[in-house]
Amino acid sequence: MSAGLSRPLVLITGGSRGIGAACAILAAQSGYDVAVDFKSDASAARSVVDSCRSHGVRAECFQADVADHQAILRLFDAVTASLGRVTHLVNNAGITGKIGAFDSAEPDMIRRVIDLNVTGAILVAQRAAREMRSGDAIVNISSAATTLGSAGEYVWYAASKGAINAFTIGLARELAAQNIRVNAVEPGLIDTDIHAAGGSPGRASRLAPHIPMQRAGSADEIARSVLYLLSSAASYVTGSILRVSGGR
Ligand code: NAP
Repeated sequence: MSAGLSRPLVLITGGSRGIGAACAILAAQSGYDVAVDFKSDASAARSVVDSCRSHGVRAECFQADVADHQAILRLFDAVTASLGRVTHLVNNAGITGKIGAFDSAEPDMIRRVIDLNVTGAILVAQRAAREMRSGDAIVNISSAATTLGSAGEYVWYAASKGAINAFTIGLARELAAQNIRVNAVEPGLIDTDIHAAGGSPGRASRLAPHIPMQRAGSADEIARSVLYLLSSAASYVTGSILRVSGGR
């Protein structure tokens, strides 16, 4: 993968921080051009773009709230105009909502989580799939919450990721004959800002002793699995849900 136009192009939603940022930088190291979507932290997104460019690939960041369908369509138009056709997608942007018991969860907050984690992710994949060709691939970022259930913390979030697993299996089968692969990664407890955003900044260190491997994972450890599933090393892997959770 040397000349710019021959490189694959990966779009990463929520690529400015955490798991998405780690995926962006590892993708650049692996020879992909990179489109970094972000919602509000432009300076974090620019810093990810700088890291990507230091690996000799093309990279740009794009502001788009991927819970908004019109913003998704504008995002793809902007990416295509600037970097070309999206060949690979990491459907990563996601939120938990405020950690707490189900009983007191605000309906608007639950709706925002579903709008982004489910509807937004599905609409991003739909737009991407329309321009994908044989050999291209999608990785959806799910969660170990799909089987843990997240009782007392965010059961609505666990439900949203369960929907993503079902979507991954169905879309994989629908696109398989075109040789477009669709897989998901289920991270366990990963040390990123998502826990603070949900109102529990110390969550990763607090829960680490309860993980079989006795520690939280890093965003890089998730990125390595994502890059494997995007790559031709996974050429016969589709409809798979890869758990990366330290045994949890
Ligand atoms: P994070 O550190 O909180 O980063 C979230 C990223 O998503 C940021 O780049 C943020 O952009 C972006 N984002 C948020 N809302 C968005 C929207 N409406 N439109 C576009 N981008 C948006 O989160 P993370 O821990 O890396 O999580 C990434 C994914 O992994 C999520 O799907 C999450 O559910 C999943 N996951 C995480 C864990 C974990 O323990 N961390 C475990 C399982 C699954 P700004 O920088 O602009 O705010």
